Amino acid sequence: MRFRTLDDMGDIGGKRVLVREDLNVPIMDGKISDDTRLRATVETLSELADRGAKVLVLAHFGRPKGIASGENSLMRIVPGLAAVLGREVAFISQGSPEAVLALPDGSIAVFENTRFNAGEEANDPLFARELAALGDLYVNDAFSAAHRAHASTEGVAHLLPAFAGRAMQAELEALQNALGSPDRPVAAVVGGAKVSSKLDVLKHLVARVDHLIIGGGMANTFLAARGVGVGKSLCEHDLAGTAEAILTAADTAGCTVHLPYDVVVATELKPHAATRIANVHEVAADEMILDIGPAAAEALADVLKTCRTLVWNGPLGAFETPPFDAATVMLARTAAALTREGSLVSVAGGGDTVAALNHAGVADDFSFVSTAGGAFLEWMEGRILPGVAALESNRINA
Ligand code: ADP
Ligand code: MG
Repeated sequence: MRFRTLDDMGDIGGKRVLVREDLNVPIMDGKISDDTRLRATVETLSELADRGAKVLVLAHFGRPKGIASGENSLMRIVPGLAAVLGREVAFISQGSPEAVLALPDGSIAVFENTRFNAGEEANDPLFARELAALGDLYVNDAFSAAHRAHASTEGVAHLLPAFAGRAMQAELEALQNALGSPDRPVAAVVGGAKVSSKLDVLKHLVARVDHLIIGGGMANTFLAARGVGVGKSLCEHDLAGTAEAILTAADTAGCTVHLPYDVVVATELKPHAATRIANVHEVAADEMILDIGPAAAEALADVLKTCRTLVWNGPLGAFETPPFDAATVMLARTAAALTREGSLVSVAGGGDTVAALNHAGVADDFSFVSTAGGAFLEWMEGRILPGVAALESNRINA
């Protein structure tokens, strides 16, 4: 791995360290409704403060599009961050190098929403220089923002000695283990609603994994491309040609594609609807495929038992509505058990995937669960994330 970490920073006592974090937490009725992202900052911020740095956190909040407002002020997040850190957190609304110098050594401050400056999303070199003037060193700890080339994620990373924070480091190492240089065989589960949203993921994976397991609404598009009648299922019939091309590419690469041969069908998507388990060739015109069937799920569990590495994005069925969560829950529990036994490295990501793993009660048993959303999917597509690339190319001496 070519990026530098906090271990490479040397003595940072009294130094000003800019740390890009993801503080973009959801707020409901004025309260932070999920502090996962705040908790992810603790390791890096505490370590830097304990090592005597003046820590200035850079982050965006919402989509203010260059316009400052109280609603989008990061001041709203400061008390929550302080609570999670168990330390005082200061707030700096206007960036001046003096204001940062005046912070006591070992203290943490949050800088106002970087997106209040239109130069942030434009990756304006002037704004990147303004940010760089606030610090001596730069740490990027926000993998979830690393797919965006913005001033605080990319521009500034070329102007100061740059390092990966602990959360960023953990994420990059986990992803490297999963698809960079994984133990084989490797299985990928790709599910979710639509093929069209994950075409690039599928194209990237067929050349890299040994088993491609397709579930969810996406499986319907593949089944339909093969001439299976899918009734009223969610299905993108216009993507039949694309699905065929992916199957051909998989064949060429020696990747085994697993499509379900039995499915759970119903005429309505509602909790505890009347269901039927059907062979894929026996779906009626008024039925919807809402989960993969028990025999297919069982076969997939057997596939995972032969694998050393698993990457998972997308649920296998409409898991929010029981009983269409059954296959997802069963396969997630199998992956978790194999991981606990030490025979499988399991990495998962995606908003609904994380929710599904939590629903199955196994998120903590996976080797790594990414909450990065867009950045995780771009990584699954094999794209180079600008924020990560900037860390890897930076060799400015600390
Ligand atoms: P992620 O957020 O993890 O990337 P997606 O957003 O691609 O996942 O897909 C999740 C959605 O796909 C869920 O809302 C789920 O209900 C839906 N889904 C999965 N299987 C089906 C299906 N057979 N029919 C309709 N919707 C499905
Ligand atoms: Mg989703």
